[in-house]
Amino acid sequence: MTTQDPIYKTDALIAEDIDAYLETHQHKTMLRFITCGSVDDGKSTLIGRLLYDSKMIFEDQLAALESDSKRVGTQGQEIDFALLVDGLAAEREQGITIDVAYRFFATEKRKFIVADTPGHEQYTRNMVTGASTADLAVILIDARKGVLTQTRRHSYLVQLIGIRHIVLAVNKMDLVDYDQAKFDQIVAEYREFATSIGIQDFTAIPISGFKGDNITAHSENMPWYTGTALLPHLEAVEVDATTDQAKPFRMPVQWVNRPNLDFRGFSGLVASGTVKPGDQVRVLPSGKTSTVSRVVTMDGDRDLAVSGEAITLTLTDEIDCSRGQVIVAAQSPLEVADQFESTLVWMDEAEMVPGRAYWLKVGTQTVSATVHAPKYEVNVNTREHLATKTLDLNAIGVANITTDREIPFAPYAENRDLGGFILIDKITNHTVAAGMIHFALRRAQNIHWQATDIGRDHHAGMKNQKPAVLWLTGLSGSGKSTIGNIVERKLARMNRHTFLLDGDNVRHGLNKDLGFTEADRVENIRRVGEVAKLMTDAGLIVITAFISPFRSERDMVRGMMQPGEFVEVFIDTPLEVAEGRDVKGLYAKARSGQLKNFTGIDSPYEEPASPELRIDTTQMTVEEAADLIIARLIP
Ligand code: ADP
Repeated sequence: MTTQDPIYKTDALIAEDIDAYLETHQHKTMLRFITCGSVDDGKSTLIGRLLYDSKMIFEDQLAALESDSKRVGTQGQEIDFALLVDGLAAEREQGITIDVAYRFFATEKRKFIVADTPGHEQYTRNMVTGASTADLAVILIDARKGVLTQTRRHSYLVQLIGIRHIVLAVNKMDLVDYDQAKFDQIVAEYREFATSIGIQDFTAIPISGFKGDNITAHSENMPWYTGTALLPHLEAVEVDATTDQAKPFRMPVQWVNRPNLDFRGFSGLVASGTVKPGDQVRVLPSGKTSTVSRVVTMDGDRDLAVSGEAITLTLTDEIDCSRGQVIVAAQSPLEVADQFESTLVWMDEAEMVPGRAYWLKVGTQTVSATVHAPKYEVNVNTREHLATKTLDLNAIGVANITTDREIPFAPYAENRDLGGFILIDKITNHTVAAGMIHFALRRAQNIHWQATDIGRDHHAGMKNQKPAVLWLTGLSGSGKSTIGNIVERKLARMNRHTFLLDGDNVRHGLNKDLGFTEADRVENIRRVGEVAKLMTDAGLIVITAFISPFRSERDMVRGMMQPGEFVEVFIDTPLEVAEGRDVKGLYAKARSGQLKNFTGIDSPYEEPASPELRIDTTQMTVEEAADLIIARLIP
């Protein structure tokens, strides 16, 4: 072997026949698992023991470990066990702020990826990340301490994320004299708790990571234990591919494959079930049906494909189907909805802003979604429900979500791929939350859009104009109301039908229940957006004068309108100038602390990145500004 080879330790087969070795290695199944437990429970020792005893570690991670622990060993030499463990612990400490450390190892029977995450409460997000792809969780318990708060917390998270295989590894058995009574007592206590949170089954194994008892082989120190050792158990546990195959066929479309006019295929990963030529399928959300004509894979056409495989389907009919849609068995379609109840794990430093629109990624599709105020937050240690207005970093709660269009989905409990989602902030691009769909809200199914005889085109046609929203945004005192008013006057003279929505006026009526917190400002703008939208449906040219300080909400309103109808006008007046004008005396109040959350003083204003129009009020009169806006509207 050269130093370039990816596998550190050779075994007999590699030495004899590298090709045969690689062949078997390639066809081994893979188990992804996560270890949970606090540092003192012996997590590093256990992972070190698994890596050490399995004797196959990939070289790049070995190199990383070597540099951490100075002198773990070199090619061909035995690694020192204690130093290996130190290296793992050191790396995890450094990795805490990054994410999750993934370790790879392999045995004769299987390949493993273990997600190593820090145990403390403030790293919930890391644990959720590590667990989201895991098939199995090893929950470590210190035999001297028994079931702890951490144990309950981690078990709850594991159950929440839907990991179906759980190993309760009762560690440090050597320190309790390999006492069976102690083990039985811990298992009984854990079983009671596990049942209460809906964990139906788990495998309890008494081990000593440090001494190596019941890790690779049955330990002679615990003759009373009749089950298998940990590693053989991990090698044998059935990964869910087979149970998923029994479920109805579902494939989120990743891309449409059209190399030439004769071939149009839909590519994706089979999320559950099986598919073969001749199967009746349905495309969601459109609901159109067709028949599978070919199932194509990298190795050519197939008679059957199963869950977990990457395939391309061709259909007998030319039906519409694009990325993000889901192809399912025609007889058992998925639900389609645009309002859901879901659990959210908040993962961003910036807290959730109820009412704000985020990107929601589910399956292969991304839609815009509004998160409503949480119904409650869960205290993960006690599972109590707490009242809250928002969720901050590492908090877990339940909230309703509305998407801007209908999406096919499955409850998370049934299908992790079609019921699990992430939320992304539209401005920062941070992944702010991981979510799990519980169910669709029934109101989503019962309210249908009323099809009316006189539509928006008719309304606009009668007024002989194109509807639009002139959205004026800027600091208080920048000149929005003044300029908006002149624009409306000029348009009226041109016989245009308009309506001016002004911030102060709306707050006296429609929005009088709202204040100036971030959440209330978001809701204020959402309502104004909806009203403006109805007015454009009525054929009007709407002029709005709202500070609207946040980009997300302005973008949300833009998204509500027909393409091209939203004209963002940035009334650009420097803070000093607006404050100098101080028409309403508000800046003075804000400066003296009498007025809280005032934009520009103690609440931010996010300037538009690329508005349709920017008006520099220090360079022109209000009349000139109004003319410029009208010229943009009616070229
Ligand atoms: P806003 O609606 O943005 O809070 P207002 O329109 O109520 O702002 O107030 C802006 C004030 O600034 C008005 O008194 C207006 O006459 C004055 N002003 C002076 N020069 C300009 C200008 N070039 N553009 C806009 N407003 C100006």
